[in-house]
Amino acid sequence: MLHLLATALLSIAALAPEARALAVPSPQAPLSRRDNLDQIVLPGFPHPNPTVSYWQDPPHRIANLRTTPELPTSEVFDYVVVGSGISGAAVAFKLLSRDPSLSILMLEARTAASAASGRNGGHCKPGDWKEVKDWVELYGEDEALRLGKMEQDCVDDVRDFVRTHNVSSGWQDVETADVYWTKKAFDEAVEIKQFQDELEKRRPNDGPWSNKRTVYAGQAARDYWKWPQILGAVAYTSHTQNPYLTVCALLEQSLDKGLNLQTTTIALSIDKVSNRSDAGAKWEVKTDRGTVKGKQVVLTTNSYTNALHPGLASTGFLVPQRNQVAAVHPSKDTSNNTVFRRSHSYPDLHSGNNYIAIRAPGDIGAGDVILGGSTKFSPTRERNITDDSVINPDIADDLHGVGRVVFGYENWGESTTVVKDWTGIICNTPDGFPVVGGLPNEEGLWASVCMNGHGMAWAFRSAEALVQMMAVGETPSWLPKSFDINRAWNYTAEA
Ligand SMILES: Cc1cc2nc3c(=O)[nH]c(=O)nc-3n(C[C@H](O)[C@H](O)[C@H](O)COP(=O)(O)OP(=O)(O)OC[C@H]3O[C@@H](n4cnc5c(N)ncnc54)[C@H](O)[C@@H]3O)c2cc1C
Repeated sequence: MLHLLATALLSIAALAPEARALAVPSPQAPLSRRDNLDQIVLPGFPHPNPTVSYWQDPPHRIANLRTTPELPTSEVFDYVVVGSGISGAAVAFKLLSRDPSLSILMLEARTAASAASGRNGGHCKPGDWKEVKDWVELYGEDEALRLGKMEQDCVDDVRDFVRTHNVSSGWQDVETADVYWTKKAFDEAVEIKQFQDELEKRRPNDGPWSNKRTVYAGQAARDYWKWPQILGAVAYTSHTQNPYLTVCALLEQSLDKGLNLQTTTIALSIDKVSNRSDAGAKWEVKTDRGTVKGKQVVLTTNSYTNALHPGLASTGFLVPQRNQVAAVHPSKDTSNNTVFRRSHSYPDLHSGNNYIAIRAPGDIGAGDVILGGSTKFSPTRERNITDDSVINPDIADDLHGVGRVVFGYENWGESTTVVKDWTGIICNTPDGFPVVGGLPNEEGLWASVCMNGHGMAWAFRSAEALVQMMAVGETPSWLPKSFDINRAWNYTAEA
């Protein structure tokens, strides 16, 4: 059925722009008027006219790159990678770092790194470790430790990449905290910290122990963290960055090694090659610009995977969700205030689960406060939406006001300047973990997708694991079993 749709879309793609817009209406009702809608909108695929994120201004020099002006339809590539976010960029980088002779073609529906990776909140933070108690209960101690270590190692790997390659993406090592207003939530956080400490004593070689957590309670928390109304905070090390620039730098590393990047080229369907004599090609990918061939194909399509792979879509395991971010600026001079050198998340109160990163002195936009979250202000929680061409005004209202509330008058001053609002699409699974591995019964078709809104802390290492599977034929022992792609089908069986 979806296949027929893709074929129909191929012919629609040949129509004039105005006719295309009429032929395939947007799958989601816009929340505000969409201007300049002159391009095709394919249900579930990346929207052609997204909001522009704070990070994408100005666009990177490779934003519109087509390494070769024509789509290379006659070549058979060792790998065709679909998607140029951190997942696709890391897969190409790691493949070419192992073997620079590989031929790799990357297809990107929009401009380079223009989906979640180019429009997130700017945090690279090992914050899911606070789930460790639940992980132990659900999956056992060994797996819980693997998950925690993978998260920390992944964050450290991204940091090392940025440092080794002198990437100018405003990377900062910052103190971060999960901050609490309610006694119940803070007591639970303290209990989890004690649980982590006991685990570290028993398993000193197995967990993410390099990143120490410090608890601040009551007045000590308010004095130290300088948010006036909190009951406690758990502080540790995190990072902030312009994620768009980091991912474009990752892509540039591969471009130097021969990656062929084709932006504004939508993969519409993927099929097994019928004639195997075609220089080893196993798969062909139909795009709006022609059909390309690969020995292996890698999906790094995150929240848009369902549209491209009917099998994965049929499991119901991958659920897109729109997320929204605002960049705002406090009225007070914050340049000498330590609280604006940190990053923050607050998972309790009636807060909307906000996360906050701040542009450091010397960065473009120094002192701008980047706030994400607040999806609870949408009745649908923005689930099953893949349209990032509009913003939700209710969420924007909350994001614009909340900085003043949490930082307090003394820190923030009297008013707020709104710098930018934007949206992006994340992909969630019911268990909260990415989907990594070979597609069952589809030899040579692979995926590292659905990063559950935490891709800066999951994707780089997921790519590393996938590359080992593809290149060596082995799954690394450090990869959590919870990431296994096959569970998507088990979920369908249980549902
Ligand atoms: C608003 C927002 C805030 C976030 N904040 C944070 C944060 O602070 N910290 C954090 O760790 N994570 C955050 N995330 C999540 C994080 O950005 C993602 O998990 C991560 O970027 C996913 O990377 P990816 O490469 O897997 O997917 P993406 O970056 O989404 O890349 C997928 C790419 O595939 C392309 N594609 C898809 N389908 C096709 C097709 N058919 N043909 C061609 N190309 C296709 C897309 O255009 C896209 O470029 C946030 C996400 C959003 C949206």
